[in-house]
Amino acid sequence: MGIVCPVYNVEFPMMVREFIRRADIHTDYFFVVFTYGEGIGEAFAHAKLAAEEAGLSLSYVNAIQMVDIFIPYFDMQEQIERLPGKNVEGQIEKLLADIAARKKVGVTILEETRAMMRQYHQTLAETWLRKDTALSYTVKDSCIKCGICARSCPADNITVTADGVTFADHCEVCYACLHNCPKHAIHMPLEKGTTQFRNEHITLNEIIESNR
Ligand code: SF4
Ligand code: SF4
Repeated sequence: MGIVCPVYNVEFPMMVREFIRRADIHTDYFFVVFTYGEGIGEAFAHAKLAAEEAGLSLSYVNAIQMVDIFIPYFDMQEQIERLPGKNVEGQIEKLLADIAARKKVGVTILEETRAMMRQYHQTLAETWLRKDTALSYTVKDSCIKCGICARSCPADNITVTADGVTFADHCEVCYACLHNCPKHAIHMPLEKGTTQFRNEHITLNEIIESNR
């Protein structure tokens, strides 16, 4: 049994961490496969810690390199152009073969790293990321109040009314709202480019349905 999820801000998405903590998972082979763009940070170690918190032993962890949607650092047009060279299908095939063979790939965490990661959670992930990031988004006048951003948001962090769009304080920093707005009306203080991105194999409806 395993989890396939993106790297959000160089770590395990907080809502996935919460999910495996609450879920009653029993397996003798627990794997985590990340999707990521340019940097994976300490995501493998965070996955191991999250598994431990959930009473699970992480048997296998790996990652598939795709695009990086972190627009303060990366130009999406450039990311899209580089995608074919990353051989995503080939990476998936290799991972599938590993998992089918119950291959073990672990991660070692030094005690000092463990302490730093806990501190990162308390001082950065929970406060700066979850609260401040979404509260810094701006919405342009081109917004048509269609509600797609709210329905695209996996964290139920957006409210759309006749008065406009408001963000709460529990953002997962996934950028689904920003990349799926039909008017490209949602923006961050810093953006590297002007292109929005959605995986060509995923429809907007599938994103919305997955949030129900
Ligand atoms: S998706 Fe875009 S246009 Fe629609 S309500 Fe949200 S910000 Fe406005
Ligand atoms: S959709 Fe937007 S508000 Fe919701 S979690 Fe993702 S980035 Fe945050």
